[in-house]
Amino acid sequence: MPENNKPQQVKKLDLAVKSALWLGSLKSQAKAGSQKGSQPKIQRGQLGQLGMIKHPKGQLVDVLVAKGRIVSVVPAGSLDVQAAKEVDARGLLLLPSLTDVHTHLREPGQEYKEDIASGLGAAAQGGFSNLMCMANTRPVNDTASVTEFMLEQARKSWPHGPRLFPIGALTKGLHGQELASMSDLKDAGCRAFSNDGRPVESTELLRRAMEYCQDLGRVVIDHCEDPWLAPAAGVNEGAVSSRLGLAGQPDIAEAIQAARDVLLAEYLGAPIHLAHISCEKSVAVIRAAKARGVDVTAETCPHYLTLTEDEVAGYSAQAKVNPPLRPRADVEALLDALSDGTIDMLATDHAPHAAHEKEVEFDAAPCGISGLDTALSTTWELVRAGKLPFDAFLRAWTTAPCQRFGLPLNSFAPGDPADFLLFDQDAPWVVGPQTMKSKSKNTPLLGRTLRGRVVAHFLAGKSVLDIEPTGA
Ligand SMILES: [Zn+2]
Repeated sequence: MPENNKPQQVKKLDLAVKSALWLGSLKSQAKAGSQKGSQPKIQRGQLGQLGMIKHPKGQLVDVLVAKGRIVSVVPAGSLDVQAAKEVDARGLLLLPSLTDVHTHLREPGQEYKEDIASGLGAAAQGGFSNLMCMANTRPVNDTASVTEFMLEQARKSWPHGPRLFPIGALTKGLHGQELASMSDLKDAGCRAFSNDGRPVESTELLRRAMEYCQDLGRVVIDHCEDPWLAPAAGVNEGAVSSRLGLAGQPDIAEAIQAARDVLLAEYLGAPIHLAHISCEKSVAVIRAAKARGVDVTAETCPHYLTLTEDEVAGYSAQAKVNPPLRPRADVEALLDALSDGTIDMLATDHAPHAAHEKEVEFDAAPCGISGLDTALSTTWELVRAGKLPFDAFLRAWTTAPCQRFGLPLNSFAPGDPADFLLFDQDAPWVVGPQTMKSKSKNTPLLGRTLRGRVVAHFLAGKSVLDIEPTGA
């Protein structure tokens, strides 16, 4: 016990971050605390507790770390601490590292767009500790050897993280004909299964995939798109597409598949995760399914919350993405759904493409936006503007994805992995080749000024911003 008000001494710390601004409740974090171990378990009912705001203006805290794990988070200056490394965090916001369950890293096969080293570099700068990468590489990640290659590239280039969790192909070659060898892929390290990039046309095949994944303790991530209604257009069917004379993709192409998927999940009693939800009609499907107790989770992406179909009005291929950007009413519906938990989580759908591939006619350009570098700044702007509650922001980027896919989570409870970042929420920066770490700069935000930069990022207590990749 400390004598009088004398600060208590804590020994053998590796890292002490002092006087960081924390906007959440310390008490509620302790409740959400985890077992010791690399994969903390958070119960479903505890989701959202982490971010409960106790002090609207926040409080200053010290974060104490030993052996890569959180020792405690205490009011600033309340303990007399000395650590091997000390960081003065005055003026900086403390956030747990983010998790992205949907990225495309292009290696193997298209390393000119992105490779695993550059993608993990963008993740480190962007504030992400865990990254799940999709299977549409060349060759497709449908065999254990591809999964093992990805993990080896990650280990070689970023040995201290960010951590990579490959997603296995649901069907061989993503052709939608024959299931991939999911058991082998799981054993090799695949954390989930998806045909992302292409919809699963056959409902029978999707059913078998969901049953098989359930037996393996894995979740199917579905890219919801009715292939008969949705030419890979990259523009919403509506006022803008008709003005431009482009074939548009209607919102029901997504919502019809979302409805099929939740009915299947309900019938089978199996889990399903819906990728990149972009419209109000899908939100209604998910909300009704959750009310019936269906085991469905869903993600949306920063661009669907911050941009509208007007971005493509000048035939700008940088805003060509699948599913397409939607009208304002959909953006508002998605913000409501993310705030109330109907949409559980955020994901970047980081889809890097080289400049020459996007600098062509709209119809010929590939779909996708490079998102790892900008995701935190753009979504923090929603919190700042009062459009997204802080607790929903934290849930969407941390607890919900980690819980759904069994990934390491820092809820700042003792024993949690010391994955956190210090964020200068007012620092302006211009989106461009000098500021983006991703190899590909394909974003409609190019040249725009965003606010908020990650100035320090620790994974298991080690800085990942000062360390340059050692591999390719
Ligand atoms: Zn997709």
